[in-house]
Amino acid sequence: MSGPLIRLRGVSRVYGRGAAQLRALDRVDLDIDEGEFVAVMGPSGSGKSTAMNIIGCLDTPSTGEYLFRGVHVERLSRDERARLRRGHFGFVFQGFHLLARTSAQENVELPLLYRGEPAAARRAAAAAALAAVGLSGWEQHTPSELSGGQQQRVAIARAIVTRPGVLLADEPTGNLDSQRSREIIDLLSALNRERGITLLMVTHEAEWAARARRIVRFVDGRIVADGPTAGIGITQAGPGARAAAVPAGLPTAGPVPEPVAEPAAPGA
Ligand code: ADP
Ligand code: MG
Repeated sequence: MSGPLIRLRGVSRVYGRGAAQLRALDRVDLDIDEGEFVAVMGPSGSGKSTAMNIIGCLDTPSTGEYLFRGVHVERLSRDERARLRRGHFGFVFQGFHLLARTSAQENVELPLLYRGEPAAARRAAAAAALAAVGLSGWEQHTPSELSGGQQQRVAIARAIVTRPGVLLADEPTGNLDSQRSREIIDLLSALNRERGITLLMVTHEAEWAARARRIVRFVDGRIVADGPTAGIGITQAGPGARAAAVPAGLPTAGPVPEPVAEPAAPGA
């Protein structure tokens, strides 16, 4: 593959119409290479989540181009886009979004269930993903029996169980105290560093953004700064920063089971 993994060109996302029209993204250009760890910052309402949703194929641009591995996502059908999303992207949100009264194991198996994988394969993959986030032994616990930090770990296990190449984390520590936040950031950055997963993380905290190698800053739907972490006023975490190891058992971001759909040939 030549070119970046992710390329946005002149991407706008407009909500509503007429006087109520709101431009959540305004002609955004953004390139992200495979294996990067990018922190996304900016005030509330600046378009961070909108950009993450477009990159993760949960939403589409109103205008502009989105190329993933050179494929024009904005030209794909809804089904092709869903296949791309399930095959390549994992999502982690501020609010965990776990099913209540459902075990950690079953929560993590869910994406594989949607993919129609057999029960034994689902069970093994979910157990490995839970081990990779340090939750071996907690498989049968439901979210209400887990701390916030543990619930976010389950959500991360669910996000990586499909072996995505890209992890999109939208304020993953927004509901956690500082110690639990640090553990989640350690885990996410280890997934990036040791497994090669491309990581995009929205955060309001300069301390967590400093763990990335690059920071992209949004204001009013536009990117107003984009550069190496050290270059825009936030220094890298020092030698005291702890780095969590990802336990063995989690496969690296590798070949994906579903091919990227190619856009239909002109006139096809
Ligand atoms: P951020 O994640 O940076 O806080 P968002 O991307 O969620 O910002 O939102 C950007 C702007 O788009 C905000 O003004 C928000 O109110 C608006 N917006 C987001 N989603 C919708 C929607 N589904 N309908 C209408 N407006 C929306
Ligand atoms: Mg947001």
